[in-house]
Amino acid sequence: MSNAVPMRLEQQYGANNYHPLPIVLAKGEGVWVEDQEGNRYMDMLSAYSALNQGHRHPKIISALKDQADKITLTSRAFHNDKLGLLYERLAKLTQKNMILPMNTGAEAVETAIKAIRRWAYDVKKVAHDQAEIIVASGNFHGRTTTIISFTSDAEYQRGFGPLTPGFRIVPYGDLEALEQAITPNTAAFLVEPIQGEAGIVIPPDGYLSSAYALCKQHQVLFVADEIQTGLGRTGKMFACEWEDVVPDVYIIGKALGGGVFPVSAVAADREILGVFEPGSHGSTFGGNPLGSAVAVAALDVIEEEGLALRSRELGTYFLNKLLTIESPIIKEVRGRGLFIGVELTTKARPYCEKLKDLGLLCKETHENTIRFAPPLVITTEELDWAFARIASVFEQA
Ligand code: PLP
Repeated sequence: MSNAVPMRLEQQYGANNYHPLPIVLAKGEGVWVEDQEGNRYMDMLSAYSALNQGHRHPKIISALKDQADKITLTSRAFHNDKLGLLYERLAKLTQKNMILPMNTGAEAVETAIKAIRRWAYDVKKVAHDQAEIIVASGNFHGRTTTIISFTSDAEYQRGFGPLTPGFRIVPYGDLEALEQAITPNTAAFLVEPIQGEAGIVIPPDGYLSSAYALCKQHQVLFVADEIQTGLGRTGKMFACEWEDVVPDVYIIGKALGGGVFPVSAVAADREILGVFEPGSHGSTFGGNPLGSAVAVAALDVIEEEGLALRSRELGTYFLNKLLTIESPIIKEVRGRGLFIGVELTTKARPYCEKLKDLGLLCKETHENTIRFAPPLVITTEELDWAFARIASVFEQA
């Protein structure tokens, strides 16, 4: 079938909240995807880092199929035989003793916000409805009404008010501003250890560890949104490890679902997540056996295939190659592991389109930055293939 029909159907019936590149994907395996006409492309976006294990990893697909043949959904009205296994895995991985499962990233962030607020009232003894959460400018934590209430991007908010109060925004990377924003009512500092959607923005060295120390000093929870940066993407299992920080609360998602199923979770100690009791929070699909089985397999793959180390080594290799490109339109190349941003002095979209024509898929984030975040199963040869195309596009510019 031609690519034109599905694109027309999407345009005709779909809400207009995305601006996809004009290709229609119909197959995927590992690092490669194919459109309906049989053209192959390398995927260097990985569904915004939800495909760290690659498309249709055999072990994950096998777990999906096995579980689909047994039971898929129970709701939390009953126990199921897979959720506990996922809890145990996540508890070991995060060094936390309580886990709360959800589905999408935004739901996990919402869950963390509720936990933080309750903790502030029940444990820290902040006065009723006065809890504050500090966030960073340029943040991206999802699209729900509460979460967009604390974005610094006006377009994410326009027309969606009234917004949820109780958030303060400080400049990302600015410790002094963080310290000044802390009040007795501050419950938490919610932060991405590297900002993904903002354009792979890496904070100054020492920022995370000093921010963590500040939080400890003031009885403020340090809450890391590792939805995009976690599970090997930046060359460590969690990006906070780059500064030896173990946050009070981890929020994870994306690659936890192994690229096949939405699975997210909040991990923290009992003192924090213990604020929930039956009836206070929930999700019909959160913790379902199909997602739990998939997530355990997704974690197995990350660990067994050493994907964090692979990301670190190949990320350094690829970053160093990208740094050799001489082009007047490249402003900066930066990254950690296979989480790399190339910031241009001009709009990035036309370059993503040129790369697509050469068989390489990537996407601009904000106007000027191209994010290169391939599946972590990529090989050196495949990175060389990608590099040749990227270099040709920029060296012509
Ligand atoms: N938090 C971060 C850091 C993200 O990058 C994203 C998605 O890009 C989200 C939260 C939201 O996740 P979801 O789209 O699954 O709701």
